[in-house]
Amino acid sequence: MNLKKAIKDIDRPFLIAGPCSAETEEQVNDVVQQIAKHTSANLLRAGIWKPRTRPNSFEGVGQEALPWFVAAGKSVGLPTSVEIANRQHVEAALKAGVDVLWIGARTTVNPFAVQEIADVLKGVAIPVMVKNPVNPDLELWLGAFERLEQAGLTDLVAIHRGFSFYKHPKYRNVPSWEIPIALKERLPHIPIICDPSHISGRRDLLAEVAQKAMDLNFDGLMIESHPDPDNAWSDSFQQITPLVLSELMGGLILRSPSIASSHGEQLLEMREKIGVLDDRLFDILSARMKISEEVGNFKREQKITILQQEHWEKVISKRLISSEDYELTQQFVRKIMDAIHQESIRHQTKVMNPKNT
Ligand code: PEP
Ligand code: MN
Repeated sequence: MNLKKAIKDIDRPFLIAGPCSAETEEQVNDVVQQIAKHTSANLLRAGIWKPRTRPNSFEGVGQEALPWFVAAGKSVGLPTSVEIANRQHVEAALKAGVDVLWIGARTTVNPFAVQEIADVLKGVAIPVMVKNPVNPDLELWLGAFERLEQAGLTDLVAIHRGFSFYKHPKYRNVPSWEIPIALKERLPHIPIICDPSHISGRRDLLAEVAQKAMDLNFDGLMIESHPDPDNAWSDSFQQITPLVLSELMGGLILRSPSIASSHGEQLLEMREKIGVLDDRLFDILSARMKISEEVGNFKREQKITILQQEHWEKVISKRLISSEDYELTQQFVRKIMDAIHQESIRHQTKVMNPKNT
């Protein structure tokens, strides 16, 4: 299949759905039938070989599952995709007639492995999706695309699945949206799919992450779906049934990435208003820093330290208490006040110790 064209040809989002892992022939058939019946999926996914963080957990059924998956896809007329991590995986997947391959996050991180895959794929016309590396390293992600492009592969797609972080309070893998946005800037010809399942690690976050990806104009979504998520052999906390997946998709709000000319004027007017307010903000900040310098002069004459901790704590707590009146979060108020304070100290230091600035 031509994956890039398929992504372009449909209305956003292109949906990739399927279980984290193929488990049994029955489970594969069941989930594929349900996905075809309830969702608008464009491509199926299933993990055949699972790269598990710790040994002795379920590591995938292996190549025995390939014919189950390919046959199930054919029976509903949907193309199939699997994760490959080495030469043997690629050869087995190609032999079984899988339509699309993907390189997982734990493989993208390893240039030897990516090169091995690129070498086997030389001269093969198959689409390849490349997940971001587990660590937030844009260069490694770009490098994987370069290795595949150098092997002559042109039908390439990126998958953003978040970045590993020690004990993050919210995400299994932190999205760090600035990295996929930077990838889009560097490789504008490569479509980008978001994988909310591995970012979230839990069902209740999926819709929020999927919506964010749509608002950032991602081309599609890869979401893990299982007929009985609680009893899935891998990633049971994040999988959802095909029916729940169809509800999630139905709940997404799809906003247009371009501005219709009729809306253009309205938006321009609002942006102008914001520009005027931003001008005022900076005039005020500049005036405030001039007074900070007067304070600095006074403190120098009176031999008083720049920082008066107690006074500053009072200033901050007054602002934090009133944050709700301004409909601003305490977090935002704290950040702004800290930034103003630091800049103020810089101005006071300038007049107190001119040589140190
Ligand atoms: C997966 O898609 O099931 C998987 C293992 O993902 P990742 O490579 O993003 O961890
Ligand atoms: Mn998974």
